[in-house]
Amino acid sequence: MSEPIVPDAAPWRATVLTLYPEMFPGPLGHSLSGDALARGTWSLEPRQIREHGLGRHRNVDDTPAGGGAGMVLRCDVLGAAIDAATPADDARPRLLMSPRGKPLSQARVRALAEGPGAIIVCGRFEGVDERVIEARNLEEVSIGDYVLSGGEIAALVLIDACVRLLPGVMGKHASGVEESFEGGLLEYPHYTRPREWEGRTIPDVLMGGNHAAIARWRADRSRALTRARRPDLLQRDES
Ligand code: SAM
Repeated sequence: MSEPIVPDAAPWRATVLTLYPEMFPGPLGHSLSGDALARGTWSLEPRQIREHGLGRHRNVDDTPAGGGAGMVLRCDVLGAAIDAATPADDARPRLLMSPRGKPLSQARVRALAEGPGAIIVCGRFEGVDERVIEARNLEEVSIGDYVLSGGEIAALVLIDACVRLLPGVMGKHASGVEESFEGGLLEYPHYTRPREWEGRTIPDVLMGGNHAAIARWRADRSRALTRARRPDLLQRDES
């Protein structure tokens, strides 16, 4: 059985069921998430689905019922892997990374970050047998309208988005509340030194020290950017 990366019970726990546990922590072992992992702010337990595979070759997949291309992750194998990873009193939500899931939103990320963690199943091949999704109450989560070759990168995305919101992970000045999506809008543009670069200058209002004017400018830019790039967000904001 795979060992948790931080063995002690951390406040926020991610268990990842995967055929590629060596892909974890991967990028999550660096920077903010890596430091927080080392501090024990969160823990990561990658678990090898194949440990529950069948026969000498530990088979995990089979051909699709009804025919068609590719292979399907077996419900009995995945069911056993989920059961072994989750005691009956485990209150964490069970997520299945899936392109047909509900698109991941900042609101869902925040709700997950405020909870005890998540059990995350990474699909491979053509996907997983529908019966295990129903029987183990898996919530399908998509990270976007495109198809990845496996759920691992999607799981890394989801965990990263959650972990940066955990208490103490970001600096106290960067609470995340002003970021894109938090207020239903995209974030305003940022600038830093030098004041002039290749003939482009920092907008005067940002250099004037008038905090009310700066806040107004940022709100205007935020709304204009959202209108240009993501009018769907604005409609939600105005409805
Ligand atoms: N046949 C599936 C379909 O058309 O919906 C795609 C399967 S994909 C090749 C293999 C696995 O990658 C999926 O089971 C899922 O775990 C993961 N995956 C692919 N795209 C994803 C996305 N946009 N969001 C989350 N997970 C994704």
